[in-house]
This record gives sequence, structure tokens and C-alpha cells, in this order.
Amino acid sequence: MGPGLPLWLPDGAIVRGELQRLADEEAAASGAQQVYTPALAKAELFETSGHLAKFGPEMYPPMQVGGERYLLRPANCPHHAMVFAARPHSYRELPIRYHEVGAMFRNELSGVLAGLTRVRQINLDDTHVFARLDQLEDEVVAGLQSVRRVHAALGFDKCEYRLSLPANDSEILGEPQQWRRAGAALATALDRIGVPYHRAEGEAAFYGPKIDVQLILDSGPGSSSGAGAGAGAGAGAGAGAGACVGVGGDADADADADAGADTDMDVDDRASDPAERQARVTETVATVQVDFVQPQRFRLGYVGPDGTEHRPVMVHRGVVGSMERVLALLLQVHSGRLPFWLNPHQLVVLPVAGSGASGDEAGRAAAQLADRCAPARADVVIDGSLGHRIRAARERRAGLIAVIGPREAADGTVDVLDPSDGQRRTVAAAALAAVLRRAIAERRPPRWEQ
Ligand SMILES: [Zn+2]
Repeated sequence: MGPGLPLWLPDGAIVRGELQRLADEEAAASGAQQVYTPALAKAELFETSGHLAKFGPEMYPPMQVGGERYLLRPANCPHHAMVFAARPHSYRELPIRYHEVGAMFRNELSGVLAGLTRVRQINLDDTHVFARLDQLEDEVVAGLQSVRRVHAALGFDKCEYRLSLPANDSEILGEPQQWRRAGAALATALDRIGVPYHRAEGEAAFYGPKIDVQLILDSGPGSSSGAGAGAGAGAGAGAGAGACVGVGGDADADADADAGADTDMDVDDRASDPAERQARVTETVATVQVDFVQPQRFRLGYVGPDGTEHRPVMVHRGVVGSMERVLALLLQVHSGRLPFWLNPHQLVVLPVAGSGASGDEAGRAAAQLADRCAPARADVVIDGSLGHRIRAARERRAGLIAVIGPREAADGTVDVLDPSDGQRRTVAAAALAAVLRRAIAERRPPRWEQ
């Protein structure tokens, strides 16, 4: 393959499918329309957008096709601007929202490529909203509510919010009054959601103010980790990642590579305790960014109530993040044990043969249980001793392990082991199926009635 080009093996592809479904559902719930756009475009598109001037060195060299220069895109935004520009719009249609999990490309030096966090093709959950300035606050509230639902499903419960504003009017590209209104809308939206946030004056993007949601990671020598859901689950993120995704090429990530240069990675120095300061690393996992520049550059417009053309404001919204990085973070945060709804092996069913004809009954009951638990992903494993099969299921990070012997087969029950907490329960097969269905539908761990 080459460095930075991971292969998604079948288990990883299941996880990615679930993450994309979550991204699509959340976007649809906020009124976004699904679009599909090509990863390649004429160089002029990126000249217009400004990406070529700003991100040129991070883009792949152009391809000459029929006398034209084509480029792999470094971002999905210009394409969504072109979707908006494809036909005229009235103020009544706004806000208009487009969503896509789109592939974009970064020409990273092979020295900084690392696992799933620095890759050459990024598949990003990306929504772009075209709105009037007076609609901004509600849009941001909807975006932040979506972020909170997604983070609850992913188990990202230690997050902080940062509102980035310009330091002063001289930093502003465009009209200071618009920027102030947008900044105030973002602050009010954060207040409406009721989350504490940090104001970062002077940290705004060159195109507008923004909100970043940062996941707090326990990392480094002063780490106090171990409280996570997957504590004690065994090997760390590396092993789990290997099970899901094959990292292509020589994974010789240079230890000297400056990870701190990644704009998404901050070592937080606000913590007062030195040990804690060293341990606290944050990663931006979601973002809502106001953009006054792209609509200008693409001359986007809508017809206002006065019959004349007005410029919309663009909002970039990333909720789930890139498929690669969110998987890496999930494995890190949960010590390799993914949230149940994402687990490729939600239920491993192990029939135990008794003597004589009753052994077949256990096998039949196991197959029936797997069917009955749909849509849970259930594997029936027959070969090998029970001890060996349980060990193998644990190593695959199975969500639940169900054992069915002749006695369970006869009375319609099943012996369920939950490796995440070591609990064993004997439950009716129908009850297990109901617990699994609810956990999957609600994207949360299985809950047992006591
Ligand atoms: Zn964008």
C-alpha cells in the first residue's frame, strides 16, 4: 500500500459502517441533505477557494488530464460550495445544509505518518451549512446538541469546549461587525447548551470564529488512567487497532516527528498541578466553524426579501470526525474495548455438547439464539474446548459470551458472561435478545433488569 494508507479489514469495516451510519443519522436529524462529491477537481477550484495558496505543500502533485491540471482535494468544503452554487436560492430556503462522509487527501511526510491518526486519505464526517447571520445561533445550538449525542454514544465523556475569537479587529478579514455578531452567536449558543467553555481570544481561524470540542486524554507519565470502561481489558489500543485495520507499508513513524505541530493536538498547560499538566493532552474531536471567506471567494448568494442578492455565511461542522482518527481515539479511550454498539463481535455463542443426542440440541439452540438476537452481530463457535473458546472470545474483545449446554437448551436459558465486568448471569434467551436489541438501538451498553 504505502505509509499512511490503512486497509480496513472486515472487523474495522463493520466499525466504520456503524460510525458512518451514526454520522448520516445525526446529519439527517439536523436537517442536512446527503450529497456525494468527487475527491478530484480542476486546480482552479482550489485557486478560487484559496486552498492551493494556503495548503499547497500538503496537497499531492497535480495530474495532467487532457491539458487540464487536476488535484486530489485537501478539504470537502469547496465541493459543497459548488453544490450550493449549482442553482439559485431564495432566503426562504435557508439554512441549507449538505452532508457527506467525504474522502480528502493530505501529503504528509512519511516521517509523521502514525497508525490511524496521521494518514494520507482522511474520510471526514463533514457538514456545511449556508445560512443567514441571524440563523447562526440556532444552527450552532443544533450542531452542539448533535456533538453531545454523538459523544454519549462514543463514550467520550471528558470533553471541554473552546470558543476561539479574534484578538482585535486588525485580525479580521472582512467586516468586523459581522465577526462580532458571529462571535456573540457562538457564545450564546454555548450558554444555551449550558456547557462551560474557555474563551480563546486571538485563536480564531482566519475565516471566522469557531468552537472546538476537545477530548481530554489521560496520557504521558503522570497519567491517572485506568478509570475507563475498558480498564483491565488487557492489551492496549495498539493490539485492538491491529485487529480492526491493517496499517499499510512500513509503519516507521519517526519518533522525532513533531506531533505538537499537528493543529489538532494541544498539550494543555492550563492545569495548575505540574504532574497533571504533563498528563493532560487534548484532541479536537468536533468543531463548529463560521466562515465568511469561502462564500466571498465563490461569490455565493441567495435572493433576499428585497429581491437583491445577499451573501450567506458558511458553517463547517464536524461531529463524528474522521473515520480513521475517531477509531484510533475510541481504542485509546476505551483501552481497546469498543462501545458495545460498535463491537464487531457483539455476541459469541458457545454450545457445549453433552453426551448422546443432547449435544445436538445445544448446537441447534445456539444457532437459534444467534438468529433470535439479530440485529446483534452473533458468531456461533463450535470447535475446541470450552475454555479455549472462551479465551479466544475474550481475546477478540467479544461484547458478550453466551454458553449453552444441554440443560440451557432444554429450558430455553443461556449462561451469559460479560467480559467488561466479569459478571455471569443465567437469563432466558428471549430476555437476552431484548437486552441486545435495546442496547444496539440506543447505542449504549447492555442493561439487565434485576
Ligand atoms: Zn469545511
